[in-house]
Amino acid sequence: MSQSPTQGRAERIEQTRSGFDVVIVGGGVNGAGIAWEAALRGLRVLVLEKGDIGSGTSSWSSKMIHGGLKYLEKYDVPLVRESLREREWLLQAAPHLVKELRFIIPFYKENAHSPAVLGLGMVAYEALSFDKSLQRFSMFTRDRLLQREPGLNPEGLTGGAIYSDAQVNYAERLSWEITEAAIRAGAQVLTHCRVTKLNVKNGKVVSVDFHDEIGGGDHTVPASAVVNAAGPWIDDVWSNAEELKLPRMNGGTKGTHLVVDPFPGAPADAFYYESEDARPMMVIPWMGRYLLGSTDIRFEDDLDMASATPDEYEYILHETNKVLPGANLTIDDVHYSYTGVRPLPYVDANNVADITRRHDIRQLPGSDGLYTLVGGKLTTFRQVGEDFADLLMKRFGLKRKSVTHKLPLPGGGQPDAAKIRAGIAGSGLPTVTIDRFVGQYGSIAADVVAFVTSSDERREVIDDEFGLTVGEVEWAITHEEAYRLADVLARRTMIGLENDLGQRVIEPVAAICARVLEWSDDRRDAEIAAYHHYLTRFIPQKEKA
Ligand SMILES: Cc1cc2nc3c(=O)[nH]c(=O)nc-3n(C[C@H](O)[C@H](O)[C@H](O)COP(=O)(O)OP(=O)(O)OC[C@H]3O[C@@H](n4cnc5c(N)ncnc54)[C@H](O)[C@@H]3O)c2cc1C
Repeated sequence: MSQSPTQGRAERIEQTRSGFDVVIVGGGVNGAGIAWEAALRGLRVLVLEKGDIGSGTSSWSSKMIHGGLKYLEKYDVPLVRESLREREWLLQAAPHLVKELRFIIPFYKENAHSPAVLGLGMVAYEALSFDKSLQRFSMFTRDRLLQREPGLNPEGLTGGAIYSDAQVNYAERLSWEITEAAIRAGAQVLTHCRVTKLNVKNGKVVSVDFHDEIGGGDHTVPASAVVNAAGPWIDDVWSNAEELKLPRMNGGTKGTHLVVDPFPGAPADAFYYESEDARPMMVIPWMGRYLLGSTDIRFEDDLDMASATPDEYEYILHETNKVLPGANLTIDDVHYSYTGVRPLPYVDANNVADITRRHDIRQLPGSDGLYTLVGGKLTTFRQVGEDFADLLMKRFGLKRKSVTHKLPLPGGGQPDAAKIRAGIAGSGLPTVTIDRFVGQYGSIAADVVAFVTSSDERREVIDDEFGLTVGEVEWAITHEEAYRLADVLARRTMIGLENDLGQRVIEPVAAICARVLEWSDDRRDAEIAAYHHYLTRFIPQKEKA
């Protein structure tokens, strides 16, 4: 009889005793990117993630794969160029997940940034993306802009511009695909395993202790090097290595987005505009809805429960209604909000917008073999991985070069969506399922369809609107390391990002999980309760706003 996913995981945890060259703490885009690079270059790699892959900051971004026009204001040309190069790679490496998005910038008289400065910025942005496949930028007169976007507030409007960046539909799936690439390259990945202690002997890292958050056991894995890629949690991870006496490294700021349906005056393209307090704000079309945001506020509280305050709702709704007066949005229009904490370097700065968005690799003094990633955007995870792997190559005396910039991600093998669709169109699955599979799985869609159509039970559709099938829930568990209800709903099948946060399918999905993961009734009930608790972070607290 073949091994169950639960048994397989328990066995892999036991096998960690034999040790690894590198243990990576954190399975966000960056931890996964480092694992992919390091495994491809021949190192024995283990990723330990306390929650699920991509369940940290990587799930809570603006979903832009961008050069960062705003970084030009800080003259951070290397960061912009690096990000633009990575954007171009991602457009080719994961075309099912990452697509061009046009951004309109309206110019208003009262804006702190003059049209001339913005125009110059765009020329520079264009020059720095000389190798791009995206459309060029162009400028609008006031009248032409209003013709194109009649919902825009005309008061004080002087003109505008349009330029291209890119958007990832599901950063959660991107995080998973990088992880899958790492696993294919030989990395071991254990989710729901929290690093609890770092063991350093005579100034050298020797092992890492971790706790199995599902099975409940404590384990020690010998390691020659440890990379702390825990995003905004980096200080927590090192806090148990008291002998190191490390300075605080993370000074993250929290950012909130609101999810709303299309509204009167909603733009066809994204808007990038200036708020009353001169901050960059966005209205972004996303999966048939809009993301509004974001805020940028120093955050010192519980990183696992960061959520939007009534003030943030009010601020974002006010700014949106100001630039698009027909919208008239209230908190009743918000389906849910999400909040993440940007992993930024700790600095004693008052203006959080001034904190650099560049990534920094810190090799810790008095601790041979310990590395920390401070910062790092979604867009640049591959470069972060390459930089770490270069350092690790030196440490282990190896000479292998990076090849990831020439590789697609697992679902990017076939870039032509029409061909992927044609390959699975005859499966008899509903059109909504087929369409979703093309954008969600890319070239892996054929394998998922073969699995889903392998039995009548797997073919069964649980939710007509989303076209969710029993088989894809099983696939998430058997092929994509999903072990908890939230993993399946919010980060693999993606029904958990629908307007009701997947609440309509909690019971049937929990029943499938219980069958495949051999849950007791108590465990199933606990998972359902945990999912409801998890949702309290996102559901608007209407009475308080
Ligand atoms: C509001 C907002 C908007 C953003 N917009 C964009 C954007 O549009 N484009 C862009 O490129 N970037 C954007 N970013 C930045 C980007 O999302 C992050 O920089 C990036 O996702 C960080 O990834 P990471 O892997 O370093 O961290 P994370 O995704 O946070 O991963 C760290 C992981 O470490 C795990 N962990 C923590 N402690 C432990 C432990 N003890 N043991 C094991 N695991 C542990 C956590 O569970 C977590 O999964 C945005 C960020 C925010 C907050």
